[in-house]
Amino acid sequence: MNQQQCRLKTIYIFIGPPGSGKGTLSNLCTSHFGWETLSTGNLCRKHIIEQTEIGKQIDFALKSGKLVSDSLITCLVEEWFEQISNKADAVILDGYPRTVAQAEALQNCLNTKFSWANIKIVRFSVEDEVVANRLGNRYTCTNKDCQAVYSLAKGSNLVPKRAAVCDYCSSVLGKRADDDMKAIQERLIVYHKHAGDLISFYGTQGYKAIEFNVDKNLDAVFTEFKQFACLHSL
Ligand SMILES: [Zn+2]
Repeated sequence: MNQQQCRLKTIYIFIGPPGSGKGTLSNLCTSHFGWETLSTGNLCRKHIIEQTEIGKQIDFALKSGKLVSDSLITCLVEEWFEQISNKADAVILDGYPRTVAQAEALQNCLNTKFSWANIKIVRFSVEDEVVANRLGNRYTCTNKDCQAVYSLAKGSNLVPKRAAVCDYCSSVLGKRADDDMKAIQERLIVYHKHAGDLISFYGTQGYKAIEFNVDKNLDAVFTEFKQFACLHSL
């Protein structure tokens, strides 16, 4: 594939703590601009359901209680890029790469196959206290096919219309096990370590992370991101 045949122009790599709204902003960009978002979790599930060769290997790893190896994830991601590169002008990588090893593998792939694409590293900045408060107040629809996210935080625009019931499918809302305070603090510590390593890695590759303040409401975050995207690439 070469530059003339390919629509893909910009790759946004979102680096941000859990609860900083990466997924929500990705969804908005997907619905408003027709961008594509890479979620490795969803991609793994899709391959397992479709029983592809990679899917079988992932399924085997998970059933044996192992982590899915970086090399399998890299295969998935490369294939995903091939498939979407003609479907969208921009893609968002949400929560991937997570480690420097994954970032190196991704960079190899992009340098080889999509060398013309702009890579923008966007670092979501928000105080730990703010995301901890958000996550601590986060409730998710227990219906596996819905999984809508709600917040009971004061002033949030994600408060459910009826207490503890999903607006869309009327299922009961529940709390994820990793949204309790101790687990949240641990996730934030792990996040900061990985984020620091990733930012340094991209620095050595000549990419400076853009600090993006997300301690504001969703409309303001989206407006600012649109301005930023227009200025830098669209
Ligand atoms: Zn629901």
